[in-house]
Amino acid sequence: MKGFEFWLPTRIVFGVGEVSRIGELAVSLGKRALIVSDKHLKELGLVERVEGRLREKGVEAIEFSEVTPNPLSTMINDTASAMAGEGIDFVVGIGGGSSIDFAKGLAIRLTHEDDIWNYIDVGGKSVSRATSRTLPIVVVVTTAGTGSEVTPFAVMTNPEVSEKCGIVNENIFPRVSIVDPELTLSVPPRLTASTGIDALSHAIESFINRQTHGYSEMASLQAIRLVSQNLPTAVADGRNLEARSRMAWAATLAGIAISHANTTLVHAMGHPISGRFDVGHGEAMSMGLPAMMRHSWMLDMEKFARIGEAMGVDVGRPSVKEAAKKSVEAVEELLDEVDLRARMSDYGIRESDIDDLARDATGYMVGCLESHPYRFSLEEVKEIYREIL
Ligand code: NAD
Repeated sequence: MKGFEFWLPTRIVFGVGEVSRIGELAVSLGKRALIVSDKHLKELGLVERVEGRLREKGVEAIEFSEVTPNPLSTMINDTASAMAGEGIDFVVGIGGGSSIDFAKGLAIRLTHEDDIWNYIDVGGKSVSRATSRTLPIVVVVTTAGTGSEVTPFAVMTNPEVSEKCGIVNENIFPRVSIVDPELTLSVPPRLTASTGIDALSHAIESFINRQTHGYSEMASLQAIRLVSQNLPTAVADGRNLEARSRMAWAATLAGIAISHANTTLVHAMGHPISGRFDVGHGEAMSMGLPAMMRHSWMLDMEKFARIGEAMGVDVGRPSVKEAAKKSVEAVEELLDEVDLRARMSDYGIRESDIDDLARDATGYMVGCLESHPYRFSLEEVKEIYREIL
């Protein structure tokens, strides 16, 4: 067994109703908080609820609720400039991955001068590096998908270059993350499906990754099992708190797995789709995941057989090869079951866009590409894009 290091500096507070504890969990971080969220969650009353709990503990909060899906680096810069004199001690991200990543970006930008895009990681390198001056981050997660509540990543789009990429920095691991499954009850079916497939993609990509290790594998496999067993129920019956809870845990587990073992081809191909065409992250993952699996199951049949097994593949006693192949079918069946079988052309993407997409996937997304068990060439990546067109 290969050696590894496991480090997760985030206090995870998981359970129904736990959002009520945010005051006591955050009070040690300072007296003035910046709450970062979006219009939708504000309308649902969650921002006010959190603000009230913080106030009870003597923490004053100011609020920014303008985050949009696929958050923009330019907007993070502008917001940080507008908030510069506010004396903020810590940042609270409330929402899905977009609000959380926006909050992480602000936590850096409020204490560092450079354009936030300079902190983006391309193949293990960035122009600027965030330091321990980064403000502490508290998270209240409201979707079951990205795992951003437990990752050192902040993903954003730079509209000036139409690229979507992530910061990788240990200083943006949240200090506290509240995973309260009750908050996901309001997620509509299509978003439940796409965020759930995002979690599945994290789990599968981290499991087959070159950087996988004993701990991440354990988290990946359990996340695969939980998604496969609970996503259809969470989509069909959104009020089912048990299925929602298991999906919330699956997403957090898969987030822990990618924090240690990274993602692969699906993310390398998916971010350019979102960066250029503003396609939702989970939707992009749902197009790429089965295609990646069709091109990869033969690279490590033992691993893919274990994915199949975790997804309940049972044909008596299948050979490793059969079970590996069936893992692809199991994912395709799950996508059918949750009605998520989109193609790139459904989002207006054309054959003539494929060259640009493939250049991005093999260019600025090279880190994810290199984590895949096989290094796909530019031409092969184009071919896979054509398959999902
Ligand atoms: P999101 O945050 O973009 O939200 C999508 C929509 O869902 C928004 O309109 C939001 O208002 C709504 N929403 C959120 N919670 C809701 C609730 N409880 N009820 C009703 N509506 C709700 O969606 P997401 O999929 O969670 O996040 C995607 C972003 O996260 C992408 O930018 C992606 O790249 C990023 N991401 C980050 C990481 C990381 O580790 N930092 C990992 C994977 C993905």
